Formats: sequence, C-alpha cells, structure tokens
Amino acid sequence: MTVTAGRVRFAPSPTGSLHVGNALSAVANRRAGDWMLLRIDDTDAARNLEGGEEEILRDLEWLGVVWDQGPVRQSERVARYRDAAAKLGERFDGVTLVREDGRPTYHLASVVDDIDFGITHVIRGNDHRPNEVLHRGLAETLGAKPPEYVHHGLILGEDGKKLSKRAEGATVASLREAGIPAEAVRAYLEELGLPAHDVHYDLPRIRRLAIDAIGALSDEELSARVGVPASVAPALRGARDLNEARDYAGSILETPRPAEVQPETLLRFRELVELEPKELVRELKAVGGDLRALRLVLTGRERGPELWAVLAALPREEQLRRVDAAL
Ligand code: GLU
Repeated sequence: MTVTAGRVRFAPSPTGSLHVGNALSAVANRRAGDWMLLRIDDTDAARNLEGGEEEILRDLEWLGVVWDQGPVRQSERVARYRDAAAKLGERFDGVTLVREDGRPTYHLASVVDDIDFGITHVIRGNDHRPNEVLHRGLAETLGAKPPEYVHHGLILGEDGKKLSKRAEGATVASLREAGIPAEAVRAYLEELGLPAHDVHYDLPRIRRLAIDAIGALSDEELSARVGVPASVAPALRGARDLNEARDYAGSILETPRPAEVQPETLLRFRELVELEPKELVRELKAVGGDLRALRLVLTGRERGPELWAVLAALPREEQLRRVDAAL
C-alpha cells in the first residue's frame, strides 16, 4: 500500500512508551502526510498512565518523528464533543457516544477531532478496521466528508497474536534501553511501510540494522552517544549495539584489576610497544604471543573490541601501566 496524503494525525492513548505497532503508525503517518497533528486520546481516564504522554513525546523525538500541531489533548475539548453529541444523541447505531458521567467515548471524540482538524487521511492499525463504518456514519451525520481510512497490518508476536507490550523489544523505550540506535528502529519501521497484512515482529532484523546504524555514525557521533571522549571511538567499532559499545568503552576507561598471566607475551609487548597497533598485533601473533592474556591485562575482559583497536584507543603510557601492574 502507498498513500500520499494531505492532513494526517497520530493519535496515541497516553499509556506509556509506544508499542512498536503504534510507532509504525506514527512513522507511516509522517511519511504519508505533509501536515501532521499529534493528538492524545485521553478520554478513557482509567487507561491513562501518569507520565504516559511525556514518554510518547520522548519516543517520537527519539525516532525523529516531528509533528506540525499539538499535542492536542481530548480531555481539553470536552465542550466541543458535547456540542456534537447534542446533534447525534448519546448513542448512534447502538454505540455509546457519551458515558454516564458525561465524558465522550473514543468514537465521538475521534470523529469530531478528525473533522475539526481537517484530517484527510486516517492511517491506523487493522484493529480499528471494524470502526470505519461507524466513524464514517458519524462524520456524515455531522455534515462532514469522512476522511479516507487506511488500516495497516499489526505487528505480531511469536504466538501469532498482536505483540504483547511485555514481549522483548515491544516498546520503543525497551529498544532504546537495549542500546538499539534510533536509526535502526526507524529504518525497520520504514522498511515495513504500510503492511497490508499482519507481520511477525523481527527483532533480529532490528539488531542487524543496529550494526549498520552504528557503522554509519561518525567517531564523534558514536562516542557522544556512548558518552565517552572521541579518542575511544576506535575501540567501539565492533559493538553491535550502544550498550555493548558502553561496555567496550569501560574496558578502555576503567583500570582493570591486575590479572595473573604468564609474563612472556607481556615482556615481548613492551619491546614492541612503539609499533603501530595493527603491526604490533601482527608481530606478537608471529612469535606465538598469547593475545588473550594481553587482552585480559589491558582491558580486564576476555572479549571485546579487536585488540589493535584497544591499543589505538588506549594511550601508550596507560598500556604500559596496565602491563607493568600485571608483571
Ligand atoms: N487512540 C487510538 C489508538 O491508539 C487511536 C486510533 C485511531 O487512530 O483512530 O488505538
């Protein structure tokens, strides 16, 4: 499906960090619309989460999804919905429009807002397809031309049901916390586009895109995201996500506990220390040096960035200090 639209809206409920399926709607709306409203659907007070709106704004900013107007909260437009209800009645085709306490339901508020903000295309998940007939009817009864409705496939979990918000990587916040760069999440959502059918969530694909995204960052950008000096950047390069990059940075910036290893490789290292890092590693390998031991002494870890990159990121005096501490 491709849509080129005029005025669109993204309308999350303030229930905390965005589900990746909602993030897909946000990205799809942004791509399709040349004007976008951010609307907060907070008419269902029981579902609203304290701080939920702030989390959504943070997710959108992180993903680089910008909007032109809003956030507009439905809770601030209750008088407007009352006017509409006066024309429509409290029920329409058997569906409740106004709750007993006088607050509007999602259906009423959503249709009134879509009219008032001149929305031309409603792009949302398949789970709202059953609402199309009702929303169309409401708009027409209010004397408006209904927008075009486009429903995209949902993101499914392994069980074939809509991905649970508790599943691994199911929310934008959980991806951010897992060290996935925003570019990788955005690229995945762009790749999905507007799926006509439901799709299975592909976290391994996001992880592969994360490697590409890290590869595309300059040394300055990468080290800034990890929160370390740019001199450390060479040692961050093999990292598959930003959390791993943080761990790699730690192996350079934190003094390791002295490790007990055989001295031969370390003594040879001291003789070769003036060499350029890649050459030094080659020489050590050629004489059968124990590179694992050297890594352990230099970083305090058994695994990590390539050894030459560790040497490139670690000042020579510090290399010698760590080697001497082990000797
Ligand atoms: N608040 C609704 C949701 O998050 C919006 C649905 C719509 O776009 O109309 O599912």
